Amino acid sequence: MGKLHIALFPVMAHGHMIPMLDMAKLFTSRGIQTTIISTLAFADPINKARDSGLDIGLSILKFPPEGSGIPDHMVSLDLVTEDWLPKFVESLVLLQEPVEKLIEELKLDCLVSDMFLPWTVDCAAKFGIPRLVFHGTSNFALCASEQMKLHKPYKNVTSDTETFVIPDFPHELKFVRTQVAPFQLAETENGFSKLMKQMTESVGRSYGVVVNSFYELESTYVDYYREVLGRKSWNIGPLLLSNNGNEEKVQRGKESAIGEHECLAWLNSKKQNSVVYVCFGSMATFTPAQLRETAIGLEESGQEFIWVVKKAKNEEEGKGKEEWLPENFEERVKDRGLIIRGWAPQLLILDHPAVGAFVTHCGWNSTLEGICAGVPMVTWPVFAEQFFNEKFVTEVLGTGVSVGNKKWLRAASEGVSREAVTNAVQRVMVGENASEMRKRAKYYKEMARRAVEEGGSSYNGLNEMIEDLSVYRAPEKQDLN
Ligand code: UDP
Repeated sequence: MGKLHIALFPVMAHGHMIPMLDMAKLFTSRGIQTTIISTLAFADPINKARDSGLDIGLSILKFPPEGSGIPDHMVSLDLVTEDWLPKFVESLVLLQEPVEKLIEELKLDCLVSDMFLPWTVDCAAKFGIPRLVFHGTSNFALCASEQMKLHKPYKNVTSDTETFVIPDFPHELKFVRTQVAPFQLAETENGFSKLMKQMTESVGRSYGVVVNSFYELESTYVDYYREVLGRKSWNIGPLLLSNNGNEEKVQRGKESAIGEHECLAWLNSKKQNSVVYVCFGSMATFTPAQLRETAIGLEESGQEFIWVVKKAKNEEEGKGKEEWLPENFEERVKDRGLIIRGWAPQLLILDHPAVGAFVTHCGWNSTLEGICAGVPMVTWPVFAEQFFNEKFVTEVLGTGVSVGNKKWLRAASEGVSREAVTNAVQRVMVGENASEMRKRAKYYKEMARRAVEEGGSSYNGLNEMIEDLSVYRAPEKQDLN
């Protein structure tokens, strides 16, 4: 067999697109012909990478698809309002025909597609090629969510404060009901729980799972996922380590709201480990009241900080924008606080020696970026599988403290007091416990780098995947022999 040709197909969300572009960089560096299937809204960073010499293909699909009824500007998950979300997710299946055409035209050997695209398993099967699933999260979260779905331990509690644990799980971790997604708690089937079922069923029918993680980080759960839950998987991360140099670090995702040089000049003026970086990913939003509490909490922590505040989703939401900002806030903190409004060059910031801690919503990309930067974290999960990632950081790795948010909420989040912010930030920055967490964080940073080096666990993981795919034969074809 000649060079493998693999297509990567992320769902329309920055947190899914970014690691797929990193994966494309890794694959090409290992001799795999790679094509990304995406949409116009996400083409920019891919084209920039191609212009800088990355040899990958790009196939653009029209989205929203013809006849879906979705407003033209809702091109990515962070731009979809709550009421349109079910329709948005449903409309993805309309891409089935163009995707099948691409598989045929490109003569693909394999399709790595997003968990949110369960129907792609059928597209791949039609052409006798394997489909690999990419969830974009950790083995720990994959195991926790499968067990949670199976055992539904939240049904055994009678109040929102009573705790429960996930049965048959290596670590005894306590959760409360409000940390579980409402669609999962609902007694009757709904659009999202239906999709979750389709996703699980589709994973079962796929050839395997590609995980953006590395063995040394969560060996217990890599093994558990394979041996107890019976999933075939390859751990090939951290994918973000495929980026070299400042330019690549800045070009991931959207256009940064701050110039590389301005950002670096600010950080260069700070002492080592003195800055807290605060960012909640591409999707999470907060109420004005919560933004205000966060501002005061950060100010009262006495620490230096960079705080990334997302711009309002649309003009309607943006009315009265920034009324939450405490009076003269920026003036008071001007020597020690920087607010970035919009998109921040997160990798560039986290990798700077001045950054000493990361306040994160625990999206897996951010979590892994924090791990690779070797910094302790304040965990502030909001929705998706972020509450699992929080437990992983605070109780399994022991490299972070929780801010205490216990409410799963996709809409604008609130409820964390200024005192909780101040307290958590101080706990990761100051004192013996902070030093201990920093030491452990540095250990995992080192392990992450070793995993992707030649001979490391993820390097070998990708070798195994390539070998496996090279000898793959579709079940139908085998039956004919
Ligand atoms: N990100 C960034 N700048 C921002 C916000 C996010 O570069 O201002 C990147 C971040 O580095 C990460 C991704 O966007 O790679 C967010 O993914 P994650 O899984 O952390 O969270 P999600 O956005 O999916 O909730």
